[in-house]
Amino acid sequence: MSIAENLEQIKNTLPETVSLVAVSKTKSVAEIMQAYEAGHKVFGENKIQEMTSKWEVMPKDIEWHMIGHVQTNKVKYMAEFVSLIHAVDSMKLIKEINKQASKYNRTIDCLLQIKIAEEESKFGMTEEDALALLSSEEIKALENVKIVGLMGMATFTNDESQLAREFNRLKEFYDKHSEAQKFTTLSMGMSGDYMLAITYGSNMIRVGSSIFGARNYS
Ligand SMILES: *Cc1c(COP(=O)(O)O)cnc(C)c1O
Repeated sequence: MSIAENLEQIKNTLPETVSLVAVSKTKSVAEIMQAYEAGHKVFGENKIQEMTSKWEVMPKDIEWHMIGHVQTNKVKYMAEFVSLIHAVDSMKLIKEINKQASKYNRTIDCLLQIKIAEEESKFGMTEEDALALLSSEEIKALENVKIVGLMGMATFTNDESQLAREFNRLKEFYDKHSEAQKFTTLSMGMSGDYMLAITYGSNMIRVGSSIFGARNYS
């Protein structure tokens, strides 16, 4: 099936409350344009340089989401245009995002990445650390960054009961704090597990290979 057909098929299965980030990492501008021409305007990338190169040459009504781990020294390259940063995991990074966003008079929306995988994972915060950060005086002083929700990456497994536990845990944490924190966005679910993630309350899914086909990293 074509990229447009894949998109159409996925969109037809999504509840209206769930938004779709088409993950276009490693894919060419021509491939992304096929999705764009089919009416899709929200794309996710995991490398700042790749996202910036694509932003420079592509239509300006595209919303670019940074879904990968962010190095502090690279925030400056995307501060002018990025619309949501999914994997924020430290105060140091938030301060840099705030500083760079202020240069463009922007407020950049961010999600805190929470560790949900039961296996050891390098990135993401514990719930305790996220709460400490959210309730700190430091963060309240930052005017150019806004934490609008949470993001989680489940373990890469076919074990549905494990995935369900991981998603459910994040959803419970989200629900517990969403009112006080004015959260709007819970980003969880990828090609292999997005239906389950939606069952567990995700309202933003990040789907790559089911739209664009398998990635070739060679
Ligand atoms: C690559 C990636 C995705 C999409 O993965 P698919 O399995 O191709 O849908 C989602 N989230 C993050 C953080 C990614 O890096």
